[in-house]
Amino acid sequence: MGRAYQAVCKSCGHTFPASEGGGFSFESLRCDQCGEDTAVSHNDVWESYLAMLKGGNFAFPEPDGADGRTYQGEPITEGEFRRRVEAKAGICSCGGQFKFDAPLRCPACRSASVADDGTREIMFD
Ligand SMILES: [Zn+2]
Ligand SMILES: [Zn+2]
Repeated sequence: MGRAYQAVCKSCGHTFPASEGGGFSFESLRCDQCGEDTAVSHNDVWESYLAMLKGGNFAFPEPDGADGRTYQGEPITEGEFRRRVEAKAGICSCGGQFKFDAPLRCPACRSASVADDGTREIMFD
């Protein structure tokens, strides 16, 4: 589940569109240095994704057709899955590392002191 919203920087007042959370078919990560976001499609980590579903005992097929019950390999934990997705996402053009838990940053001044201004919200997936 993810959402998109208008964020406001508490340091410089810059407003910018932001989003958080992944969707049904991708994981959303942010650079731990500049806050740039990136997405890793489940298709790009399909084996790991199925292994994570199996490890988590999700009883239903996912909307994108993933079904951990039919996966033949060894199950992995969600933590291991996230580690693999971060490895897949790789290095940002600024030299930072894309992480699941990196804070949202202002694109103008890179402050991590950013708030949801509450004026516009779009749910997706
Ligand atoms: Zn700012
Ligand atoms: Zn970066």
